[in-house]
Amino acid sequence: MKLIKKQYFYYRGRIFPYVIHMERRKDISFRVGFTAAIARFPIQLTTKDLHYYKKEFLDWYIEHIDKNEYLFEKYSIIDLGVLSQINTIHKPFKLDITPHDNNKYLAKIEDDVLKINFPNQEEVLASKLNINKISLKLITDYYYPRVVNRVHQLNKQTLNAKIANIRLKNNRSNWGSYSTKGNINISTRLLFSSPQILDSVILHELSHTVDLYHSEKFYNTLLKINPNYYESEQWLKKNSFYCDIGKMPFL
Ligand SMILES: [Zn+2]
Repeated sequence: MKLIKKQYFYYRGRIFPYVIHMERRKDISFRVGFTAAIARFPIQLTTKDLHYYKKEFLDWYIEHIDKNEYLFEKYSIIDLGVLSQINTIHKPFKLDITPHDNNKYLAKIEDDVLKINFPNQEEVLASKLNINKISLKLITDYYYPRVVNRVHQLNKQTLNAKIANIRLKNNRSNWGSYSTKGNINISTRLLFSSPQILDSVILHELSHTVDLYHSEKFYNTLLKINPNYYESEQWLKKNSFYCDIGKMPFL
């Protein structure tokens, strides 16, 4: 598989990813993909034409996110530099993001403050993206043992199933997953939801120890251990794009 590098632009205080594919084709296509807007251009375009159509594509992208709040939330990455704190599942963290002359990133969580020193000579957009990534890593490390404990606790109270590894994954395509080997993956996006919602996803994955598929047997088990399952599922559908670093309005 060819690796396509995402590109980014800054707009309305957010960072927007996009992808440009150069392909053997005659026409030009723009579309909204899963995590970014995507343009497909013929490989034989001249640099001048490419420049022109790229601008056309970005205008098209901006028009879409301007008229559709859903797309705005779906694609945008928060610029943490404009926030003073971020909400997470159990508590808010204050942000202390400051430049320094060192060329390395220094990051830690100390007394509920997320402290990041970033190299001030780095390109602005690149450093914003790095700060975002590093903050997510710090929050993930902070919550990992808590999530593991919660999975074991809920398992003990309900199915007492055999579980192998539990991982927190920066996954956008699902909230959780379960594998035949007994591994449970939980999306880091749930660290920006509520404790009830995280529990609900954990109970869903635990129910997969009874059946790998979303069968009747699976749902019978799930609804027995979590009668409010459908409510949480609805909530996640509605609030999906707020479950992200810096976006979470609820606490
Ligand atoms: Zn499932």
